[in-house]
Amino acid sequence: MSIVYIVSAPSGSGKSTLVNELFKVVSHLDFSISYTTRPPRGSEQNGKEYFFVTKEEFEAMIASDEFLEYANVFGKDCYGTARRFLKQAEASGNDLLLDIDVQGAAQVKEKMPKAVSIFILPPSRQQLEWRLRNRGEDSDEEIDRRLDTARREIENYSKYDYILVNDRLEQATDELKAIVLAERVQRSGQPPSVEEAKLFATAQECRLDRARERVRPILDSFNQGR
Ligand code: ADP
Ligand code: 5GP
Repeated sequence: MSIVYIVSAPSGSGKSTLVNELFKVVSHLDFSISYTTRPPRGSEQNGKEYFFVTKEEFEAMIASDEFLEYANVFGKDCYGTARRFLKQAEASGNDLLLDIDVQGAAQVKEKMPKAVSIFILPPSRQQLEWRLRNRGEDSDEEIDRRLDTARREIENYSKYDYILVNDRLEQATDELKAIVLAERVQRSGQPPSVEEAKLFATAQECRLDRARERVRPILDSFNQGR
């Protein structure tokens, strides 16, 4: 049985960066390439970051029940996870990582309670705004919309199993890797090696119940000046 990892984060938190780093250091993990009705940005290629489809094509996929989950994100574009990625991962004995928003995460958790959910937070609202502006991919209007969506998405953090604060990239990458590997070890039923026990301890520090203290000032930074 494949382990399904759900990763959600407000746009600009560094989720794509972290997930790319994770794939460099963890094997037997597939990435679910989502379908979206939004146009490609920058250097994005069809079939790499996303499958870019029309609204009509997306609706046809909904009608033929091809999605494990789908949602309208930012009140604008639709994004969905095709069931076939899960089937393919299971057939090849790999785990599967879904990079999806909070609405999609809730749908997958409902259908697959054993899925591992991870919420990535930026260190503060100020840092998030800086990262979005520095990335240079979105208009001012789009950035304002993403910051507003971020504030609402962050309120859902407590529905996730693990919380990861992407402050220093290297540390956040190590934590994400530890979560993925610790879940594998735990489910294997084998006693952990010394190295695996260390990963397990790192992962435990990111569990929701341990993370609440770290999350509070981040939430405050999003609620100030509202
Ligand atoms: P997301 O996928 O969450 O929308 P990206 O991975 O595109 O975010 O990251 C947003 C911007 O922040 C990018 O320019 C990226 O290089 C930068 N970034 C990512 N992680 C960090 C970090 N830990 N510290 C500083 N900048 C970061
Ligand atoms: P972006 O347009 O910046 O690539 O992604 C916007 C948001 O859509 C991100 O929060 C991303 O996680 C989410 N997203 C991407 N693919 C899917 C998907 O298949 N389903 C859902 N529900 N959200 C997705």
